[in-house]
Amino acid sequence: MKYPKLRELVEAIKAVVKGPYTSKFPKNPHVPHPNFRGQVVYDEDKCLGCLACVEACPSNALAFEDIVEGENPPKRVMIHYTDTCIFCGVCVDTCIRETGDTGIVQTNEWELSYFDRADAFETIEKELQLCEFCGAVIGTKDHLVWIAEKLGELSYSNPTLYLSRLKELGLADENISTVYKDDGRSDRVKILCAECRRRTATYPEE
Ligand code: SF4
Ligand code: SF4
Repeated sequence: MKYPKLRELVEAIKAVVKGPYTSKFPKNPHVPHPNFRGQVVYDEDKCLGCLACVEACPSNALAFEDIVEGENPPKRVMIHYTDTCIFCGVCVDTCIRETGDTGIVQTNEWELSYFDRADAFETIEKELQLCEFCGAVIGTKDHLVWIAEKLGELSYSNPTLYLSRLKELGLADENISTVYKDDGRSDRVKILCAECRRRTATYPEE
């Protein structure tokens, strides 16, 4: 006959004294352990819409859609599909914002039943910044301002960044123009996508 190991014996005695480890869910609500990793949720105020988490998600539970046509202002919709999320927390670790101040956070929420799987998603919206020349999507306004603030005075080497910051502060003229015929130089002082920045910097083209 094999005798139980000491650890197993201790566990058995504890179980007799404290009762079973399992909860009586669904009769009683289940309270997860404080370290339990449950559903992640976007924080609309803190998320910058930078898409780093979307790139990193191993189960394609995060997605986005840029809505430009017929939307004023244009917006980026960040989508979290709760049915494919595996609660791994990679998105939280990947977030470009500081730990403890991330744009997506892990909760201990685990009860995620839906009658229709098509309802198993949550969204937030971020305002987009379009190129002031060609209308292409540059990124979200919050992301550009965040980068400008991170760079500080270095952001003044990039008109797209410093103008985003100044417009956020209400300190930039929305309609910068010149009375001189300047071969497009005034176009440089605009919020531009990379292609238009290149074209205005090398203007006039052959
Ligand atoms: S917790 Fe994991 S699976 Fe869920 S959205 Fe974040 S990275 Fe994707
Ligand atoms: S700020 Fe964080 S949560 Fe928001 S899109 Fe970027 S990485 Fe994702």
